[in-house]
Amino acid sequence: MDKLTELKKLEQEILADDSLPLQESNLVFGEGNADCRVMFIGEAPGFYEDQLKRPFVGRAGQLLNRLLTDIAWPRESVYITNIVKRRPPENRDPLPEEIEKYKPYLTRQIEIMNPLVIVTLGRFATNYFLPAAKISRDQGKVFKWDARFIVPMFHPAAALRSPQVLETLGSSFKKLPAILEKCQSLAREAVSESDKKEESPISQEALF
Ligand code: URA
Repeated sequence: MDKLTELKKLEQEILADDSLPLQESNLVFGEGNADCRVMFIGEAPGFYEDQLKRPFVGRAGQLLNRLLTDIAWPRESVYITNIVKRRPPENRDPLPEEIEKYKPYLTRQIEIMNPLVIVTLGRFATNYFLPAAKISRDQGKVFKWDARFIVPMFHPAAALRSPQVLETLGSSFKKLPAILEKCQSLAREAVSESDKKEESPISQEALF
């Protein structure tokens, strides 16, 4: 089965799971190029995302599109989703139990898509993977997470509120093509070295 078909099947499973929280809003599963090596993960859908059932289509999404265009990675060329797949009321922060309930589905979404690099947008997505990370300290750094790499970034919505955050986010985005290249070369090395050394798969220390 190809990745898109598998993802469609997973989406149908989430739709059918009425034990999941936030049932009063629409499912925003995620979208994009399932064959891309990079996945962008945000927090939870907002008003427009809920209306259109698509991630990052409001003001924060427009900024994300612009940041992606600026590095010649058009939105359709990457995959975009959220840790929580339905909108919390009044756009409140997702609750720990909501994040936990959607976790098995995000885990499978990641397994199917199999990205090499996961860009976490904002504190919630970052701490989902790296509980000890601090977004202001760790944004733009690269962490090893299993066989993948996590790159924390500020949330685009935060950048809309602060010119300084916007500037930092923009310059971190500009490093993404080089980060992807470096991660690809580290992954190739890891394959050829895999029988020589034992490595801890998840580290709270930045690699670079
Ligand atoms: N903010 C998010 O974290 N995700 C979206 O999809 C939209 C806004």
